[in-house]
Amino acid sequence: MKKFKSLIFYFIVLFSFLSCEKNHSKSDNSSEKIKIISSFSILTDIINQIGNDSVEVHNLVPVGTDPHEYEPVSEDIKFASKADLFIYNGLNLEGGDSGWFKKLTATVGADPSKIIKASENITPLFLSGNRTEVNPHSFISPAVGMEMAKTIAEALIKADPENKNLYQSNLEKYVKDLKSIDEKYRQKLSEIPKERRIFIASEQAFQYLTQEYGLKEGFIWSVDTEENGSPNQIKKAIAFVRENQPPVLFVESNVDQRPMQTISKETGIPIYLPPIFSDELGKPGKEADSYLSYLEYNLKHIYKGLSGK
Ligand SMILES: [Zn+2]
Repeated sequence: MKKFKSLIFYFIVLFSFLSCEKNHSKSDNSSEKIKIISSFSILTDIINQIGNDSVEVHNLVPVGTDPHEYEPVSEDIKFASKADLFIYNGLNLEGGDSGWFKKLTATVGADPSKIIKASENITPLFLSGNRTEVNPHSFISPAVGMEMAKTIAEALIKADPENKNLYQSNLEKYVKDLKSIDEKYRQKLSEIPKERRIFIASEQAFQYLTQEYGLKEGFIWSVDTEENGSPNQIKKAIAFVRENQPPVLFVESNVDQRPMQTISKETGIPIYLPPIFSDELGKPGKEADSYLSYLEYNLKHIYKGLSGK
């Protein structure tokens, strides 16, 4: 009888625990979600796509702000001090080992095992003329974005194994979408006659894309943190444009268009508008406000600009 009573007690405890769990997962209790710091808008969207309601993501670099240089504000530090995961791009996007992101994780004493480099499995490309400085902009190519999404999903599963199935099925769906965009890039860009497959933008941000899909890339400056649009950089870019005759000149959403306007005036090649996106998504509710629509948007405009159709 004693045994039976304790068994009943056990079931009561178990059931109250289960119903409590159920209530918790039903309610939108943010303390149940894993708290994630994400360095910038593109990663934030990827994390949200894979994590859905099981994650609470705090985005650091706001749209319209340069991810290469950023000063965390007090809300960032407050969220970071209780975060379960810290996800960043790496490849020096956030300033490298002595950059702002590393400083933030050090400030809050983040456990190194919780700091996830989304570009972990990416083969880095080096900025031209410089074999030591890697190009941070891996995410511009959907082929690379797929690998980054996998790394992010793995980190979510490790941090929150209970929701493994959810993360895995979201990842599968997401990778399928990225794969079909990747195929579209391959198909559309290969339709453009070879002599028109010349791409130039302000920053050398599109290297992962141009190499993957067979475009020749020109630029004014190699990375946003350097001098932007010096007379020498403009001179070199003009020489590239005269020699290669790109159909149009592209500008990015987050750059000063004046250096490219000078090049356009000098060479007679028009600037293609609207701007394309590199370091950030579009504003919420506007075009390119998710990573998938950012990729679609860039392809649409790069194709239109280069093909003339
Ligand atoms: Zn950049």
